[in-house]
Amino acid sequence: MTARRLDGAEIARQIREELGARVAELAAKGTRPGLGVVLVGDDPGSAYYVRSKTRACDELGIFHETKHLGLGSTTAEVLAAVEHYNRRVEVHGILVQLPLPRQVDTQRVLDAVRPEKDVDGLHPENVGRLVQKRPRFVPCTPAGIMEMLRRSGIEVAGRRAVVLGRSEIVGKPMALLLVHADATVTVCHSKTAELPSVTREADILVAAIGRAGLVRAGHVRPGAVVIDVGTNRVTDPAVARDLLPPSRLAEFENKGHALVGDVHAPSVQEVAGALTPVPGGVGPLTIAQLLANTVRAAAGAA
Ligand code: NAP
Repeated sequence: MTARRLDGAEIARQIREELGARVAELAAKGTRPGLGVVLVGDDPGSAYYVRSKTRACDELGIFHETKHLGLGSTTAEVLAAVEHYNRRVEVHGILVQLPLPRQVDTQRVLDAVRPEKDVDGLHPENVGRLVQKRPRFVPCTPAGIMEMLRRSGIEVAGRRAVVLGRSEIVGKPMALLLVHADATVTVCHSKTAELPSVTREADILVAAIGRAGLVRAGHVRPGAVVIDVGTNRVTDPAVARDLLPPSRLAEFENKGHALVGDVHAPSVQEVAGALTPVPGGVGPLTIAQLLANTVRAAAGAA
């Protein structure tokens, strides 16, 4: 069996097209959605993610501005950047690119974002609203995954879901969204005993752990839907040969690195019923959801 490929890039393209119409409607009423980004330090991964997000804003006609602060910035300096965007009327959504440098108090910074502009859904008020099933903004990655399941015609209600990972940004909100969609949900983490026997229970398995290729065929129930959230950079040729299909090995040899997921795709695709690719799966949906949240914030629906 070869798993159905869940094409996140294509679904994200459809979402962006729909949002384009919404942006045009807002523009006709004199509102241009705006995103304020706070980027701290010079991590190439963070810079890349911010570029991808702001490029997507450009394509849709969403205004954006980035405050790029130095690596040595203090909590007070990051808070001042957030406060600047809290006050700006042209900015409807605020994105603080994570992770922040160690000396910065991340929780204080996220708590300082006005909840009505918190398009990443990480302010405690928005987290609480999600827990109570009256969401305002939901973290973009799990929200994007739910949208992909819906648009791919994958039934969630009554099914067993296992979420691998319990982070605030992916694992926990993912589990809540699946519970709210009437799945029976198990959350696993680094202390989970006998992981493969737990993950094999899943009709829907979401892997968000940041461990290249950890989820193998033995973790997966035949026919399960497998969502690979992981984005791991591999540089070791032996690891690359194990994880990459022959079609991507040339890319690895050219660049000296490649992006892989948490799922060992070559073996899992022989067992799973459906699988998201990396890249081109969850990543584009995360960005599409950020745009959707920003447009919604601008429309005042927040
Ligand atoms: P995180 O904050 O590092 O959390 C990782 C979670 O995985 C933790 O709950 C950890 O358990 C668990 N874990 C780690 N090793 C494990 C193991 N061997 N077995 C079982 N559980 C294990 O990561 P995150 O922010 O949620 O991100 C997870 C991955 O998704 C990363 O690769 C990240 O780059 C990627 N990501 C991708 C997107 C996208 O748009 N595609 C968006 C966000 C994140 P403990 O809690 O016990 O430590």
